[in-house]
Amino acid sequence: MRVLGIETSCDETGVAVYDTALSGSAGLRAHAVYSQIALHAEYGGVVPELASRDHVRKLLPLIRQTLAEAGLSVDDIDGVAYTAGPGLVGALLVGAGVARSLAWALDKPAIGVHHMEGHLLAPLMEHDPPQAPFVALLVSGGHTQLVAVDAIGRYRLLGETLDDAAGEAFDKTAKLMGLPYPGGPQLAALAETGTPGVYKFARPMTDRPGLDFSFSGLKTQVLMAWRDSDRSEKTRADIARGFEDAVVDTLAIKCERALDAAGCDVLVVAGGVGANKRLRAKLADSAARRGGRVCFPRPALCTDNGAMIAFAGALRLQAGQHDGAEVNVTPRWDMAALPAVA
Ligand code: ATP
Ligand code: MG
Ligand code: FE
Repeated sequence: MRVLGIETSCDETGVAVYDTALSGSAGLRAHAVYSQIALHAEYGGVVPELASRDHVRKLLPLIRQTLAEAGLSVDDIDGVAYTAGPGLVGALLVGAGVARSLAWALDKPAIGVHHMEGHLLAPLMEHDPPQAPFVALLVSGGHTQLVAVDAIGRYRLLGETLDDAAGEAFDKTAKLMGLPYPGGPQLAALAETGTPGVYKFARPMTDRPGLDFSFSGLKTQVLMAWRDSDRSEKTRADIARGFEDAVVDTLAIKCERALDAAGCDVLVVAGGVGANKRLRAKLADSAARRGGRVCFPRPALCTDNGAMIAFAGALRLQAGQHDGAEVNVTPRWDMAALPAVA
């Protein structure tokens, strides 16, 4: 089954074709992402109305480009998957409207995919995919969650952030130290040149039991350290390193706790912060020490993309699930409410 995937939940237009006849990474026939970062940079954050309008401009050309790269015509598509939520309502409606119309015109099924299920399943597109049950760490711009995955489609929330998401903390911390928009990747790159241990920040909420997170206090600690510093380039890099180490250690400690609680030795990591090199290295060390396994998507499939939507949609379409003809989106959507697959 060849599934066209469409992602428009926020500020990335993503399109992909996933073919279930070719498993794993071979199934990904083509994928393309257009990022609106430059569009929103002058406002220092995503402007919802501008995001919707830009999806309108970019989506159809990107679908044509992706089909051409896959060597397919639109008639070769057996189903359409689109992000139905969570996300910005206007942005979601652009993808949903195009997906539903295309499916209707082709007389093929369409399915609305949960954006975070897309992130969560992205590692399963890689070589030697893990099998449920496993524990997933979802670390993105809007979410930080530990999820017990009993089966594909059966998700139990084990813990989540009480305030900022990990990616949001990266972005806001970068901004307060004057790094360019969006900030997270820039802060991570700067941290590479910093000296570990010069600045030591708290590992929030690791001193008590539980699997929830809190990152907003860390941001304030960085603000004070930066304000009281000489504000040199060297200091900025050292603070960036101190911040990154604090976030990475906190995530790693909670992942180990979640694996212990779930009695499981496979961890899956997804979402934009999953692209962070130090997080990848730390969780790989932890898995090696524990005799377990950690699985990540390639960095390009950690941040928003159409491939994860095509893949998650394909699993559900293959199981016979699909939506009605109406265009519906769900801007707020609990992943635990999803139906099981198969
Ligand atoms: P959500 O998926 O929760 O709706 P989103 O789609 O905006 O949010 P993603 O696209 O998954 O989030 O990830 C973007 C986030 O990942 C941003 O906050 C960004 O700063 C962060 N990020 C990307 N690369 C890195 C990196 N190398 N290190 C740390 N953070 C990163
Ligand atoms: Mg984005
Ligand atoms: Fe995302």
